Amino acid sequence: MNYIRQRRSALSQTLQAQGFDGFLITAPVNVTYLTGFTGDASFYAALPKNNTLISDTRFSAQIEEECPDLEAVIRGHNKTTLEAAAETLTKSGARSVGVEGNRITLGELEALKQLAPKVTFVPVDGVVEAQRVVKDPGEVEKIREAVRVAERGFRMFIATLREADTEKDMVDALEGYVRRAGGRSTSFPPIVAVGERGALPHAPPTTRQLGEASKLLVDWGADLGYKSDITRTLKSPFGTAPSRRNKMERVGFDFDELYAVVLASQNAALAAIRSGVKAKDVDSAARKVIAGYKFKGDKHPDTDLGNCFTHGLGHGIGLEIHEGPRIRANSEDVLEAGMVVTIEPGVYIPGWGGIRIEDDVLVTHDGYRLLTTLSREPAMLTAS
Ligand code: ZN
Ligand code: ZN
Repeated sequence: MNYIRQRRSALSQTLQAQGFDGFLITAPVNVTYLTGFTGDASFYAALPKNNTLISDTRFSAQIEEECPDLEAVIRGHNKTTLEAAAETLTKSGARSVGVEGNRITLGELEALKQLAPKVTFVPVDGVVEAQRVVKDPGEVEKIREAVRVAERGFRMFIATLREADTEKDMVDALEGYVRRAGGRSTSFPPIVAVGERGALPHAPPTTRQLGEASKLLVDWGADLGYKSDITRTLKSPFGTAPSRRNKMERVGFDFDELYAVVLASQNAALAAIRSGVKAKDVDSAARKVIAGYKFKGDKHPDTDLGNCFTHGLGHGIGLEIHEGPRIRANSEDVLEAGMVVTIEPGVYIPGWGGIRIEDDVLVTHDGYRLLTTLSREPAMLTAS
C-alpha cells in the first residue's frame, strides 16, 4: 500500500471539490506528509496533470531516494524556490491556485502574485492539516516506534538518576538517552521539574537538585519524523528527608492520594474514547473526576481540585507535537478511528507541585488502544 500516493490523491479530490486547479504547499511538514521528502526549503505543487516537488540541487540525490515516483523541478542557483514555483504553476496552465493561508508569509504571497500574474492565488487554511488528523496505518506504526524509543530512553534515564542531579543535568541526560535509544532528538525540550516546580506545567529547567524534593515530573518524547509525547510523575527514588525538602513542598497534600485522582481521571477519559465521540465530552469525563474530588478526612476544605486542572486534556500528535484534534472544553472536534491523541490530565498546586500523567492513544471504532507501555503506577517508576 502506497500511503503517500493515497494522501496526494485525497488532497487532489478535496481541491477539485473546492474548485481549485492547483494547490501550492509551502509548509515543510506538509510537504513531507505529501511526498515523503524529509528535507526543507522545498514546495509541493498539486496540479491536475503532474504533481511536482520544487526544490534545489542540494536535495536532488535525497529526492531521488525518498520520492522516486514524483516529478521534481530542481532549480539552479540563479532562481529562488518561489520563482521556480511561479514558473511551474504558470506552465501548468492552472488559473485558480490555493495556498496555505496559515503558513505562507504575506511577502511570499505578494511575490507569487507578481511572478505569476496569470494565476489567482487563494489563501485557504488548514487543508493538509485537516487531512493529517486521521493517521494511516503507516503513520500509526511510526508513532508507535517514537513511543518505544521515548520509553527506552526513559528507562535508561531512570536507572541513572543521582541525588545531586539538577533539572538541567537531567534534561541533558534524557535528551542523550532518547538519541541513544534511536531518536533523532527529543520531540521538544523535555520538562524535568523537581518538587514544587512541577506546579508549572511548562517549567524551564533550573539548578534545583533531585535530592531536594520528594517528587519529579518528566514530560518528554522522541522525534523520529513522527513524534511521541509522554509524562510521568515519580516519587523521588531517594526518599528525601523532610528536613532537606523545600518548606512549601512539605505542606499538606498527599502524593499517593493526588496521584490516584489523576490516574482515575485519565482512566475515565480513556473509557469515554471511541470513534464518533465529541472531544469535549472526553475532556469533561476527565475533568469531572478531578472537580468532584473530596479529600480524605475532609482535609483541604479550601482547595477545589477542579481549579487545579488548568489546561486541556489532550491534543493530536504526528509529524508535529501539537496537531488536531484538540481535546478540551471548547473543542468542536469529533474523534475518529485513526486519530492519535495524548490524554494528559494534571493537577497543579502552587508551592506543593504538580501531578500529570500523559499517554499516547490510538482512537479505534469501538474504543482506543494505548500506544504507551510504561507503567502508570508511580511505585513502578522509582529507581531500584
Ligand atoms: Zn507532554
Ligand atoms: Zn502533550
